[in-house]
Amino acid sequence: MLVLGPCAAESREQVIATAEQLVKSMPSATPFIFRAGAWKPRTSPDTFQGVGAQALDWLREVRERFALPLATEIATPEQLHLALEAGIDYVWLGARTSANPIQVQQLADELCASPHQPKAVMLKNPVNDDWQLWLGNIHRLSLAHIPVIAVHRGCNHHPCWEMAYRLRLAAPDIPLLLDPSHMAGTTERISDLVATAHNLAYDGLMIEVHCRPADALSDAAQQLTPQQTAQLLNTQSPTAKLTNSETHQHAVTNSEALQLRWLRAMMDEVDDELWQVLLKRMRVSREIGDYKHRVGMPVLQPERYSAILQHRLDWAAENNLSPDTVRQIMSALHNESCRWQH
Ligand code: PEP
Ligand code: MN
Repeated sequence: MLVLGPCAAESREQVIATAEQLVKSMPSATPFIFRAGAWKPRTSPDTFQGVGAQALDWLREVRERFALPLATEIATPEQLHLALEAGIDYVWLGARTSANPIQVQQLADELCASPHQPKAVMLKNPVNDDWQLWLGNIHRLSLAHIPVIAVHRGCNHHPCWEMAYRLRLAAPDIPLLLDPSHMAGTTERISDLVATAHNLAYDGLMIEVHCRPADALSDAAQQLTPQQTAQLLNTQSPTAKLTNSETHQHAVTNSEALQLRWLRAMMDEVDDELWQVLLKRMRVSREIGDYKHRVGMPVLQPERYSAILQHRLDWAAENNLSPDTVRQIMSALHNESCRWQH
């Protein structure tokens, strides 16, 4: 499943031009849903908030002219009713809405009672890294008999692969899309994320596409042009095959090989975080070095080092880490810190 379109519907011209260019650029046999936000849940009230219900008329025109199914974001019962009355096929709940179970329950109740039904509700992961809340909200919608599609958009421009992995294991029948645009926050990382989505067997993608990304009124840095989008999707096969070495060497089933891919994606992300933390330690260390130079204190402070080593060894004993490993890592860290202080 592909969901493509601008972050926000900004004007009739922008909506129609984006849809038209997408239809012209995408291979004709590739179906996609056209997305555009009418109401934008922005961090600051001083920024563009979306044009509101007016956008629904432009979306209707997209369906009439290009026969595309439509998706828009809703966050209140009123927005839900307006979107469904306008014949929007899919509604999505954004990451900020998805962080609020009372709001999701209210929308599930409204959907249950509504005379118009969407084909499905797309539910983004909450803004906070809480897969159980995401799952709980899927249950809220499922209990109201609403088909749900989960959309993984990460937190603070980090993928948080573990969140999607846990959801996949707990709810294997719920289709899972990747939203590389909000996950990355800039266009540069989108291609790698799309490759990972194929590698991890996601069921589809939601990508932000704008006819003139540089002029976008929201999320300008992360939107691709229709032509870039078509090229990206063209070069990345959605059926990433298991490599021979994975299938033969380990003689594992496809799903086991897939599990290993997820675990490796999670480990790569942990390693990235670990190295970022190490770099942060070195920056703090450099500031301590500046202080030492100012007051004429030697860089090497054996008592301080013994104290932090002992503290870490005590902690390691409680956490099943070998003391030898802890000594080696602490020694390497200490040496590197001293280097940053010279
Ligand atoms: C969006 O899809 O434009 C959007 C606002 O997404 P999110 O809720 O994931 O930030
Ligand atoms: Mn957006």
